[in-house]
Amino acid sequence: MTKVGPLMAGKKGLIMGVANNRSIAWGIARQLHAHGAQIAFTYQGDVLKKRVEPLAAKIGSDFLMACDVTDMASLAKVFDTLKARWGTIDFVVHAIAHSDKEELKGRYVDTTRDNFLATMDISVYSLSAVTQHAAPLMREGGSILTLSYYGAEKVIPHYNVMGVAKAALEASVRYLAEDMGRENIRVNALSAGPMKTLAASGIGDFRYILKWNELNSPLRRNVTLEDVGGAGLYLLSSLASGVTGEVHYVDCGYNTVGMKAVDAPDISTV
Ligand code: NAD
Repeated sequence: MTKVGPLMAGKKGLIMGVANNRSIAWGIARQLHAHGAQIAFTYQGDVLKKRVEPLAAKIGSDFLMACDVTDMASLAKVFDTLKARWGTIDFVVHAIAHSDKEELKGRYVDTTRDNFLATMDISVYSLSAVTQHAAPLMREGGSILTLSYYGAEKVIPHYNVMGVAKAALEASVRYLAEDMGRENIRVNALSAGPMKTLAASGIGDFRYILKWNELNSPLRRNVTLEDVGGAGLYLLSSLASGVTGEVHYVDCGYNTVGMKAVDAPDISTV
């Protein structure tokens, strides 16, 4: 019988968006590493470097680069450095989003122009910029994965401009998948259920959203880093070789239900 090697053996790639050990990007990194991948990381600023460095070391990586996606020169430098050290890459994880937390509460209609543009720049445009830089290094094909949320599709309280940004991000995934397909580069989004992370702490009443999903999703729980990591591994590996332009839900099934579960209590506060 043929022996099957580790799924990601010999694969090298970049993970952008680890802030700490609760980050979705970290959940994906752990799974990729467990299946044999070599991983480089970017961090946003020196404060986060102190958190990312020991995490990277845990999975045998000393390849860390500073990157703020609002600074195109820092992004270009990341891919120059990857090219110099590795020559080619096989995957990129884009787990980056930001909006002013003052506008992740109250009404969407009150969004300011400045924050609208900044949110779109960091949370949407950066995926296209990353793809532009990554594609030339993916000479034997590759896989690019971004992170989305159900607020792209339906109105979620307080998600506001971030919901509009995620809708644009999901549309970008489809256009990028078409552009990159002939080079055998796949582009997908993983739409995760709510998770307690640094970014999520900026969303108004987030505890309520978490509790609501736990009580009303078919699996009656919230997603874990293992859940998103496993699905990330699938989308980034050859298991998903025929999948591109897709938004894949990893939300314990929440997006499929239309009403409060019969056994869920009425909750006004949590
Ligand atoms: P997180 O705070 O751990 O990660 C967000 C990352 O974005 C951080 O590492 C931060 O440094 C990075 N970032 C923000 N602005 C940046 C910039 N200008 N340049 C470079 N990096 C920048 O939180 P997370 O929840 O793991 O978020 C990762 C992705 O997952 C985001 O796109 C988020 O919208 C998405 N997501 C989160 C949830 C959730 O409930 N936590 C659900 C679905 C999707």
